[in-house]
Amino acid sequence: MNLFALPAFTDNYIWMLHNGVDAIVIDPGDGAPVLAALDRLQLNLAAILLTHHHADHIGGVPSLLPRLQGPVYGPALETIPDPCIRVQGRDTVKVLGLDFDVIDVPGHTSGHIAYFHCPQPGAAVGTDTDAPVLFCGDTLFSGGCGRLFEGTPAQMHHSLQALAALPGDTRVCCAHEYTLSNLKFALAVEPDNAELARYTQQCEQQRAAGLFTLPGRISDELSINPFLRCDVPAVINTARSHGALSDRPLDVFTALRQWKNNF
Ligand code: ZN
Ligand code: FE
Repeated sequence: MNLFALPAFTDNYIWMLHNGVDAIVIDPGDGAPVLAALDRLQLNLAAILLTHHHADHIGGVPSLLPRLQGPVYGPALETIPDPCIRVQGRDTVKVLGLDFDVIDVPGHTSGHIAYFHCPQPGAAVGTDTDAPVLFCGDTLFSGGCGRLFEGTPAQMHHSLQALAALPGDTRVCCAHEYTLSNLKFALAVEPDNAELARYTQQCEQQRAAGLFTLPGRISDELSINPFLRCDVPAVINTARSHGALSDRPLDVFTALRQWKNNF
């Protein structure tokens, strides 16, 4: 299996997973880069996975339908144009012979879903998918999280906790390259986090070399992403000085998300 991102618009990533014959794409906001990749690699388009209804994630679907040989999967609780097989938490989607668990992650939008695949022990050893993989749309970003357009802070906090509980080696395939600006905020929250400083330097080098900072890893996010660290004393202290009503993780999260909106 091969996993990589196709850049689209100014900072979107359309993730592609393929086995050399068949490919799936996640959140094709634009069809053109997908068609170009399918042609270049001579791949069939076996399925499309959608995480939420925003145009920069679904806008390319109509132009891909003539090439599509399988289903479009999308969130059951959002309005997605047909054709679409509507799925939600605890459903399983089988594509390319792989099982993806659907996880409900409301917050950025009210029906946002994520797709998670964890290989069976011993399966697919030595390939690109021997690590678990997560397609999380605009919920979890490297160093940050999505804006709350439709959901509540409590929903987003709960959604992020579900993603934080996934295996540490899970590849986190986010839908935007927001990492450096997120890390600037993260450093304002935790100026003394040495791991965060190291990760920031690494990402700055990657961007300077024209590389993507994604996919990330859950284990890295746990040590650098302030929105996953709402129970860490340094994060609590900063949040308290930016309006957090208490030390409770949800109050810390709420204050951080509010502050980030104006950062
Ligand atoms: Zn979005
Ligand atoms: Fe988006």
